[in-house]
Amino acid sequence: MPELPEVEILVRHLRPLLVGKQVREVTVLRPKAVRPLSAPVFAEQLEGAEIAGVGRRAKYLCFELIGSRGSKPGRLLGHLGMTGRMSVQAAGEPYARHVSVVMGMGAEDWVFVDPRQFGGLTFDEQRLEGLGPEPLEDAFTEAVLRERLGSSQQAVKVRIMDQQVLAGLGNIYASEALHWAGIAPHRPTGSLKSVEIARLREGIRRVLETAIRTGASLALDFAGSGGGDGLFYYGRATEAPASAEERFRVYDRAGQPCGTCQEPIERSVLAGRSTYFCRRCQR
Ligand SMILES: [Zn+2]
Repeated sequence: MPELPEVEILVRHLRPLLVGKQVREVTVLRPKAVRPLSAPVFAEQLEGAEIAGVGRRAKYLCFELIGSRGSKPGRLLGHLGMTGRMSVQAAGEPYARHVSVVMGMGAEDWVFVDPRQFGGLTFDEQRLEGLGPEPLEDAFTEAVLRERLGSSQQAVKVRIMDQQVLAGLGNIYASEALHWAGIAPHRPTGSLKSVEIARLREGIRRVLETAIRTGASLALDFAGSGGGDGLFYYGRATEAPASAEERFRVYDRAGQPCGTCQEPIERSVLAGRSTYFCRRCQR
């Protein structure tokens, strides 16, 4: 499932391809992708709009629009759900399977593909309300993290995956950040000491920054159907991608030696999600 780094990499890929282009014709092949709007209303709102900017908030892609035909200038939000991806291809080229929406821009088509259909496109900005702080921004200080975590008795891993607490972390990077910080995922949030919160903040930022740098340095085919290892959600690596073992310290590595201490990585289930950790490194 795409998390902050995957969405950020896609945003950086799409920005130069979309900014300044006009959406001329919208074809909704799977109406579920634009709910609660109907396909014709969605198309009406988007057609004629020029894309002025592409950004990210939490796991949402944010497309700033000017001059759309149907309504005031606005913002289109894209969510990739579990399997969504977006790409720009030459008009007339055959589409990938599971195409949900095609936004024709003249010589090129901007395509949203979503096999499992948990993602979507929406003009509903309420989706962004109440989201927690962006962990890579300067304003994300230790004090901010401490305030967001509060004195909750919830397991810290579950807490940091809550998008209202902190934006952008999912199962993979929450697991990785906790390993970096040496904190056991099932620890009650309120039991974290000041020094641990400082380390957690550092861990969150480091694992996200590393993931963005890694992804940005690979040649990715965003029109592809996904990497063989299932980890390059944001595109298929056209080069041999780093294996999970190289990319992750604990995630999806149950039974394999911890990269730090060689102790086997353990797997448990927290709030219904697989959780990977090292019993020796994480306390
Ligand atoms: Zn270890």
